[in-house]
Amino acid sequence: MPSTVLSRPVVLTFADGVRPGAAPLLPVVGADTQVPLARGGRTRYVGLDTAASTPALVAVAERVAETLPLYASVHRGAGYLSQVSTALYETARDTVAAFVGGRPDDVCVFTRHTTDALNLLAGCVPAGEAVLVLDCEHHADLLPWQRRGPVTVLPTGSTVTATLRALADTLARGRYALVAVTGASNVTGESLPLDAVVELAHAAGARVLVDGAQSVPHRRFSLAESDADYIAFSGHKTYAPFGSGALVGRRDWLDAAPAYLAGGGAVQDVTVEETTWAAAPHRHEGGSPNVLGAIALAAACDALAALPAGALEAHERALRERLDRGLRALPGIRQLRIWPDSAEPTGVLSFTVAGADPGLVAAYLSAEHGVGVRDGRFCAHPLLARLGVPEGALRASVGAGTTAADVDRLLTGLAAFLESGTSVPYAVVDGRWQPADDPRPLARLAGADLRAVTRGAGCGQAGGQTTLR
Ligand code: PLP
Repeated sequence: MPSTVLSRPVVLTFADGVRPGAAPLLPVVGADTQVPLARGGRTRYVGLDTAASTPALVAVAERVAETLPLYASVHRGAGYLSQVSTALYETARDTVAAFVGGRPDDVCVFTRHTTDALNLLAGCVPAGEAVLVLDCEHHADLLPWQRRGPVTVLPTGSTVTATLRALADTLARGRYALVAVTGASNVTGESLPLDAVVELAHAAGARVLVDGAQSVPHRRFSLAESDADYIAFSGHKTYAPFGSGALVGRRDWLDAAPAYLAGGGAVQDVTVEETTWAAAPHRHEGGSPNVLGAIALAAACDALAALPAGALEAHERALRERLDRGLRALPGIRQLRIWPDSAEPTGVLSFTVAGADPGLVAAYLSAEHGVGVRDGRFCAHPLLARLGVPEGALRASVGAGTTAADVDRLLTGLAAFLESGTSVPYAVVDGRWQPADDPRPLARLAGADLRAVTRGAGCGQAGGQTTLR
């Protein structure tokens, strides 16, 4: 069994003496939150599940607190604060569009999240036209196309080169209106070279949608520079967990499509007989919008845009390298990769622990080390099957608030697990592993029934035996 990573710390050195990852790049809310441990006591929570949701940036929380006293209904209110709130909301739209390099004639529609944005776009692709997508996508970039049809779900190739070749062949054989591609996989952080995808798609007369849920929060992106046609992303993965996301891109399909939600705000004029719909973005923002969510998302965009060029990438690279090296030093850990020839992934890394149920390892890391990781199939069932782990895996992901100490906590916990297993017994309750007779006062903290909190396996958790020590 291995010695712990603590006894062999990973030391990264940089030419300029600066050590990205040593401290948070941006302050996040809750960085010092203490959580209870199964054996008693408390520890600082280490959240390594930023790919699922990031904590709020302090700057975002401050902007929301400042804006709350100004909040009033937008667009149709005559009151002064309605005018202020409308200005803030529409300015937020401009900020978000600029953050993703929107062209002057692009539209920014506020949505709830990426899933919402992709379902919206699925309703805007001209009727009868086909969509092309790879089978390595998150369900959010698969199911809306599958449900809409016609769609071709292309098997992901064993290399980037083979995948691009298959994409080119498929585009040459059929007619597609849209190629929907991830900006970064939520399982491995890998991506196809976007410029190559855009070139192939455009040469075949297809547009390109980038699912930016895992890329926009981590890599500079520009619609104008990449020439991609649409980008979708989520506020809750971009340090603004206030319920807003965005779809930004070409206006014509959005103006021609039926309103996403029929109702107030989406119309110009209504009679009993007929409705004149507004142009995008309002056409697709029926109902009262999430003003504070949009303002929060814009604040996050401002904070990320203000970072020196390359700082976020360097921070996350250092942490990912540390994690990668630490995991390589541990026996029985297999990291998942889609392609051997992909460019540098984002700070997301999935892996399996030989002989261990991922759900148990995740529960152990939480209960005994205060570390939050993700386990399961990550809403990417076809990809997990393709990678040979249909039963699921573990995933750790970093972000602007993550530090090297956070990564070390995970590595230390894993090393201890491999050396001596868990130190309290675990059981499966309602489909999720947790310490048997969990002493942690989750029910009281959450103000909810513990069973209700631990239920809800979402994208499919691995099951398994019922008790283990
Ligand atoms: N696309 C990718 C690559 C994702 O990782 C996710 C969420 O994990 C989504 C889309 C869906 O995002 P949301 O749940 O915010 O709609």
